[in-house]
Amino acid sequence: PPTDRASAASASASGGDLRAYAGVKLFSDLPISKKTKDGLARKRYVEMSDIQRASLPHSLCGRDILGAAKTGSGKTLAFVIPVIEKLYRARWGPEDGVGSIIISPTKELAGQLFEELKIVGKYHGLSAGLLIGGRKDVDAEKECVNALNVLVCTPGRLLQHMNETPNFECSQLQVLVLDEADRILDAGFKKELDAIISQLPRQRQTLLFSATQTKSVKDLARLSLKDPEYISVHAES
Ligand code: ADP
Ligand code: MG
Repeated sequence: PPTDRASAASASASGGDLRAYAGVKLFSDLPISKKTKDGLARKRYVEMSDIQRASLPHSLCGRDILGAAKTGSGKTLAFVIPVIEKLYRARWGPEDGVGSIIISPTKELAGQLFEELKIVGKYHGLSAGLLIGGRKDVDAEKECVNALNVLVCTPGRLLQHMNETPNFECSQLQVLVLDEADRILDAGFKKELDAIISQLPRQRQTLLFSATQTKSVKDLARLSLKDPEYISVHAES
């Protein structure tokens, strides 16, 4: 299967790390910070789910990921952990601004993943904000958005900040995540997403996760993915 070939290729590309961690089952055996491990312990996360086991050794090496696994399979941690670790390793701090943007198609899903980020990231010094529109006061958000390290947002609200917030700055972006990527790449979000992407630096890590695998070459080109790792863990997707 294509996944095996891709894994073999990336194992040789990224050296010993990946080979050493490809078979591990427990979060405690991953090359991640004690702060993250302590955060995971807060929710008694011990064993990785299939999508987490298959993707984390790659994403933690800095690779782009196209991950597919059915709803409820634990995709949130598969991107929350590499986001936190990347910024932690880069010693990201208050002065460094936006280091990661996580885009989710709905307010509800964004809210849920924000809660997970707060739990797992609790012992890190990163700041994170939930930017989802609706009744929350956008002017109050504009005051603080430039001080946040991780933005969890819906496409519309992110674009609103890009267009309206004075000095909105994401030129140092390290990791872009599209949660429910198939929905965000759908025609309904096309204009918004293209406008967002055009303002992001191309040199970054990009993580896409959804219930179904996207194979559209156009999508991959839009997102300027670099030699992405394709990971599908459930047969029906
Ligand atoms: P998805 O995004 O794939 O639909 P979620 O990330 O929302 O899935 O996770 C679904 C549920 O599984 C959540 O309640 C989450 O707390 C739980 N979960 C995720 N990973 C693990 C794990 N490794 N061990 C135990 N529970 C987990
Ligand atoms: Mg999810």
